[in-house]
Amino acid sequence: MSFRFEVIARDPRSAARVGRLYTPHGAIDTPVFMPVGTAGTVKAMTPELLEELDAQLLLANTYHLFLRPGHETVRALGGLHRFMSWPRALLTDSGGFQVFSMNSIRQVSEDGVRFASHLDGSPQFLSPEKAVEVQVALGADIIMALDECLEYPAGREKARQSMELTLRWAQRCRKAFSTNADAWQGQRFSPAVSRAKKHGASAPEATPSQALFGIVQGGTYADLRHECAERLVAMDFPGYAIGGLAVGEPPALSYEMTEASVAALPADKPRYLMGVGYPLDLIGYVRRGVDMMDCVLPTRNARNGYLFTWSGVLHIRNAGHATDPRPIDARCACSVCRRYSRAYLRHLFNAGEMSAATLATHHNLYFYLDLMRRLRAALREGTLAQLAVELTAAQQSEPAR
Ligand SMILES: [Zn+2]
Repeated sequence: MSFRFEVIARDPRSAARVGRLYTPHGAIDTPVFMPVGTAGTVKAMTPELLEELDAQLLLANTYHLFLRPGHETVRALGGLHRFMSWPRALLTDSGGFQVFSMNSIRQVSEDGVRFASHLDGSPQFLSPEKAVEVQVALGADIIMALDECLEYPAGREKARQSMELTLRWAQRCRKAFSTNADAWQGQRFSPAVSRAKKHGASAPEATPSQALFGIVQGGTYADLRHECAERLVAMDFPGYAIGGLAVGEPPALSYEMTEASVAALPADKPRYLMGVGYPLDLIGYVRRGVDMMDCVLPTRNARNGYLFTWSGVLHIRNAGHATDPRPIDARCACSVCRRYSRAYLRHLFNAGEMSAATLATHHNLYFYLDLMRRLRAALREGTLAQLAVELTAAQQSEPAR
């Protein structure tokens, strides 16, 4: 058994829990935030920097790697861990979300989804079996079943039909995966240069293989969410994702759908909420029992000069920072804040220097990962409410000049 999840502590005042997820490429402390490494790289970062940040789990997008360089190329080069030289855990999505969000022309049928590549317009086809085949070739520790991503708003009947399709696809993914689950047995990647060994233990007697998660859909209908989760649980996946949220619906509705989904999911399996969110959202979802999250916000916003701090959001391009010798955030212990001034970072952004993106991304990811560390500590110590208050104040103010 190379994949295992254990709950270590529970918050008495909410559904939040602290846990540990064991994978063939190291243990992951949950709740965890995953930096997004779209095309097998977290934009503007290197794996060395991500190790320095102590990221334990990265997400990579199957859609992008499938189209370029192609999953067979990655497989031939030893799988995604080796290809990108990342010795810690990886998760790939099914590719479905990008097919639905990046391609206005697509055809969904019982078989799968036809679409044109955003790179060259070439016709492509993704079925549940293909999504599994591609993800097995990539070799991430955690992989996702193909689901249909519904737009918001969607009517109830449409949401039900879509949910039923997602459930049939989940069953097909499970079947396709059952013969491939151990494709990477005995091939754990750990480069000589890696510091991964001291970082974290794998599960006892771990042998590399993959874990397939099912995805809860059901639009914005609580009863459909609940039913979808129940029927996925009957298929017995090692973990469950909640998909189709953060697509434009009001936050209260996202929370309600998360609660409805979590209510039907087993307590001893990890729950992954896909594609969220802002710092306060992370606390909100953790309180509703979510263990894993990913989002492009810290990385994408960093490249736009939008920096998260413990005293508010800082727009580093603002003229007010032109001669400011202070760090981005005096309360941040990241290597960027210890070394560089706001004035210098603003200059790098204004001059269009590539290092601007690297330094800003480094800080923002540190902020997110540090927030998750504090969140786990607060959960163990019963001080989650205080952390939420502190963060709420931070989100509502622009830092003093
Ligand atoms: Zn910092």
